[in-house]
Amino acid sequence: MKDCENLATCGFLRKHMEAKTLACQGFIRQYCKGDKQGDCKRRTYKQEHGAAAPDDMLPSGQMLAEHWQ
Ligand code: SF4
Repeated sequence: MKDCENLATCGFLRKHMEAKTLACQGFIRQYCKGDKQGDCKRRTYKQEHGAAAPDDMLPSGQMLAEHWQ
């Protein structure tokens, strides 16, 4: 499985990796470098809108709850 082409620039990871390392590593394993890559709503959003999804949108498509930030 190839890594997601957005991995280096993904706003979600850039914004939250430092504070939420474990959670983000889980997303990377499952989505960015894993089987669920095709299911990533951030990826789909970019393909459909031609622009990156909001930084707080999770790969699952949910928006981050405030307590996560
Ligand atoms: S969160 Fe989605 S768009 Fe961002 S790098 Fe991972 S698979 Fe790609």
